[in-house]
Amino acid sequence: NVQDISIGEALAQAANAVPDRLALVEVVPSSMQSPVKAAQTGREWTFHQLHSDARRCASWLSARFSKGDRVCIWAPNVPEWIVLQYGAALSGLVLVTANPALKPSELRYVIEQSRSRAIFHLEQFRGVDTGSVARQMEEVGIQRYSFDGWLEEVRGTTEAVLPDVDSGLPAQIQYTSGTTGQPKGALLRHRALVTNASYVAVRAGLDGSVLVSPMPLFHTAGSVMSVLGSVTTRSTLILPLLFEPSLVLDAIATWRAQVVFGVPTMLLAMIEQLKSAPRDLTSLRAALSGGAPVPPELHRRVREALKTPLMTVYGQTELSPIVSQTTFDDPEDKRIHTVGRPLWNVEVRIAVSATFEALPLESEGEIQVRGYQTMIEYFDKPEETRETITKDGWFRTGDLGKMDACGYLQITGRLKDMIIRGGENIYPVEIEACLIRHPDVADVAVFGVPDATWGEVVAAAVRITSDSKTTAEELVNHCRKAMAPHKAPTLWFGSTEFPLTASGKVQKFKLREALANGALHPLP
Ligand code: ATP
Repeated sequence: NVQDISIGEALAQAANAVPDRLALVEVVPSSMQSPVKAAQTGREWTFHQLHSDARRCASWLSARFSKGDRVCIWAPNVPEWIVLQYGAALSGLVLVTANPALKPSELRYVIEQSRSRAIFHLEQFRGVDTGSVARQMEEVGIQRYSFDGWLEEVRGTTEAVLPDVDSGLPAQIQYTSGTTGQPKGALLRHRALVTNASYVAVRAGLDGSVLVSPMPLFHTAGSVMSVLGSVTTRSTLILPLLFEPSLVLDAIATWRAQVVFGVPTMLLAMIEQLKSAPRDLTSLRAALSGGAPVPPELHRRVREALKTPLMTVYGQTELSPIVSQTTFDDPEDKRIHTVGRPLWNVEVRIAVSATFEALPLESEGEIQVRGYQTMIEYFDKPEETRETITKDGWFRTGDLGKMDACGYLQITGRLKDMIIRGGENIYPVEIEACLIRHPDVADVAVFGVPDATWGEVVAAAVRITSDSKTTAEELVNHCRKAMAPHKAPTLWFGSTEFPLTASGKVQKFKLREALANGALHPLP
């Protein structure tokens, strides 16, 4: 069944059912202090305590904002993130989640496009003065709240009567860059997030269990699958502040976790780390991965090193987020070579992208999805919404796939121009737009190249103006000034000609072929 409850109700139900069970545990590397000033590291919350903090947070928010207002959170995996997530849900606010790696101009776009009324942030994180960036955001007329001392203030708030929050209301805006133009904010509703999270968690075997998830909270894999997946199954979420292989492995061993989530790149790094420092991971019953292609080899390595089966999920932010998932009971070849069968209450079809004509089983086409979980819209972008959701409700994923007679879905390619590096989506159009602004770049094409560690890495083929001696290093620096660092290309090629389609688009698959054939030459 679709769980027709709001995020706040999901937490209240867990707090009533298992008040004294641990809900949330913070994990910080021993070499680091808490990024929240004066906070202890390793803080813990029972479900009762988390619900109590969330209710006070909602009262604190209600005194400052009105139901339906948007507030932006720009922070890594600190527990305050989750308290604010639940507080916002209980007070009917919409949480706008921003990647902590965003540069000021990128963050400003998110805040302005979502018309957020406030930003919540850390003062410092990993050597970056995030406090001063957040202060710059006050220029666009929003309120600013640092997490330093914030939780103490929230706990001192008198509880107010909270508004009713219908499960059909929006809970979150999650930005996904998009293959054309500017980032778009997927507006996601309470019941879609609660329901989807509970389905995924149940299929992953969570049931009063312990989950370790280093997935970033600003992605739905963190805020939905990890946070709401653990609350709906009354499980304990062990929350590493950041992804470090040893930190996550130690957390699994210390807390005797049964389930771990991670994108393929994370699991590979953990398996590598385990070779030099073995740990007792016998509590593990499942590892769950997705967000990027999961290579068959990863299944073998997870089985060997973590002694547990690997489950795959396939989804997209706009779909709250998971569409299909493998299970413990699937035949091994399906578990390894497909992304499983669709979750409950969702329709999945394979169709011709241009005509929407549905295709028979085993044919390759665009994966299209219809059901409770589709986003309400791209916030304030009616045209982009219309291009993505058909009149009769089919959501176009931009992924290519096939479905077999037993309902197993296989991802065979991507129609959209997108690179997935270590689980992070990167949109070539954004990097191309940045590079073309460099005075020495005459033309550029950015494309993904397969990589054993990252899944894919970002490559750029550039045509430099004839009288220039610009180097790859200079172009990397140019990108880093404008964009979150992970987007900067790491492979650079000089090119005089780009292979073009009849309509004048660069054929990126031909650039990949040229690279494989040794026909592309590195830029000095
Ligand atoms: P999150 O919001 O946590 O990032 P996500 O990674 O599922 O969730 P997106 O970042 O929107 O969602 O990325 C979605 C895209 O990632 C899909 O459209 C698809 O191209 C790719 N993808 C996701 N899961 C898989 C998978 N298991 N196999 C292959 N590609 C995948």
